Amino acid sequence: MAALASISSSVDSIDPATGDVIGRFRVTPPSDVPQILTRARRAQAAWAEEPLRARCARLRRLRETIYERRQEIADLVTRESGKPRVEALFADVLVSLDTAHYYATQAGELLRTERVPHHNPAVKAKSGWLHYEPYGVIGLIAPWNYPLAIPLGQAIPAVVAGNAVVLKPSELTPWCGALVGELFTHAGLPADLVQVIQGGGELGAALIQAGPDKIIFTGSVATGKRVAEACAHRLIPCVLELGGKDAMIVLADADVEVASSAAVWGSFTNCGQACLSVERIYVEHEIAERFSERCAAKTQLLKLGPGSDPHTEVGPMIRPGQVERVEAQLREAIARGARILAGGRRRSDLGPCFFEPTVVADVDHSMRMMQEETFGPVLALRSVADAEEAVAMANDSAFGLAASIWTSDSRRGRRLAARIRAGAVMVNDVASYFGISEAPHGGRGASGWGRTHSRLGLLELVQVKYVDVDRVPHWPKAWWYGYNEELGEAADRFLEFLFAPEWRHRWRSARGAMRAVFRGHRI
Ligand code: NAD
Repeated sequence: MAALASISSSVDSIDPATGDVIGRFRVTPPSDVPQILTRARRAQAAWAEEPLRARCARLRRLRETIYERRQEIADLVTRESGKPRVEALFADVLVSLDTAHYYATQAGELLRTERVPHHNPAVKAKSGWLHYEPYGVIGLIAPWNYPLAIPLGQAIPAVVAGNAVVLKPSELTPWCGALVGELFTHAGLPADLVQVIQGGGELGAALIQAGPDKIIFTGSVATGKRVAEACAHRLIPCVLELGGKDAMIVLADADVEVASSAAVWGSFTNCGQACLSVERIYVEHEIAERFSERCAAKTQLLKLGPGSDPHTEVGPMIRPGQVERVEAQLREAIARGARILAGGRRRSDLGPCFFEPTVVADVDHSMRMMQEETFGPVLALRSVADAEEAVAMANDSAFGLAASIWTSDSRRGRRLAARIRAGAVMVNDVASYFGISEAPHGGRGASGWGRTHSRLGLLELVQVKYVDVDRVPHWPKAWWYGYNEELGEAADRFLEFLFAPEWRHRWRSARGAMRAVFRGHRI
């Protein structure tokens, strides 16, 4: 791996479990970005010429490469992001493999030129088609928390659609970012088609400044606003995948054992540092006490430690600053009356970034913990009178990424899901839709705009072109010049023919309407 030592302008890869520097990468000078884009444009022009089937075949090779190197990939993701190795395999490797498989096998169908049938008799002599064309160069600006699944989940559909990619990974996971580029090279994709640039926010800003054809940004709300502004300034379209404050609604008829396991996993997977983390739990009053007890008891069983230990269930947070943020939210919540049922302490004995998985009850919406993204190992509970109050609480948030509803009545679950303001709602599961390649991912409100994954995510990476072919090329159109009273009269009959409320009336107008088509005076 190309970690470079002793370069002054460098970005460090740090193991969050120990705080040790494990690699060092040269920062890409912002002044190099325009040239990088030029190379990407050259590579893209040739790539877009390859038939879609050939591009899909190359993706299958990428899938094989990821599969062959899966152990090495999981080790690196664990080392650099801190997550337990099982989570690196499930959330990063599996999602990446399935994304490659999905688009390699489905892109042909998903991007096929589509016929557009016309309903209006006035344009029946035309045939319409939708063509999907690549944008050109897609700029990907990625976060650190799923350092493989997120950039690959976006780069793979970008490439299959005929684009080139310039990826700026998070400065907290530069090694994983470099690996993404290397996987494409190893799989035999053309040079410069997927390029990785290394650095912090200023390099992300330089990437936008250099003028890619679209930006797919994933990260915090604060950075997302800056990205949106910079893109607007240059009229670059962008997708924003931002933070979440996902609600979990537990109704009285839910299976308490299963729902409490889901709450614990959903709150602590990736040490709570997932956009789809369960951040707020609203439990119906009748089962609230039993549910809270089960959550606390299960949390106390979790093993905290380095992700490389196969028994570890909760790893370190990414950096000490993130631990401090969680501590500050907890302090404020407790001062306002919240109760800690489990955890609640920093574990400096284990390393610089460890914090116990923590269960907090009696939270309310005046607390920062219920308003801002926590992005840490906190399970926050609140008892509610009924489903109505739970829905109102779930919707009382600036965020709108995802939510879940727990009930043994799945029809009721779906009815309530329709009332939740979110990009996705799961009934009787949390977060796992992120691994369903057919499921679109994206938010509302402060959680961003646009979609990744699925057909909708693929369509974000193409320009839609409508092509219209007239089947009677020698016939001048009825609405062209040569205006006079006769044409005005015929136009009115035409409107009657199309839209008069009674059929009788419509048929009577048909002849008059045809005068527009077969009229004499034309220019
Ligand atoms: P972040 O906003 O700090 O950084 C994200 C990326 O933006 C990094 O690559 C960073 O270098 C870059 N960046 C910073 N300033 C920039 C600027 N001015 N211009 C361009 N790029 C800039 O986020 P993070 O800490 O890496 O990730 C955590 C956040 O991401 C959380 O809020 C989490 O919820 C969110 N997230 C959302 C999703 C989703 O799909 N909705 C997925 C994962 C993470």
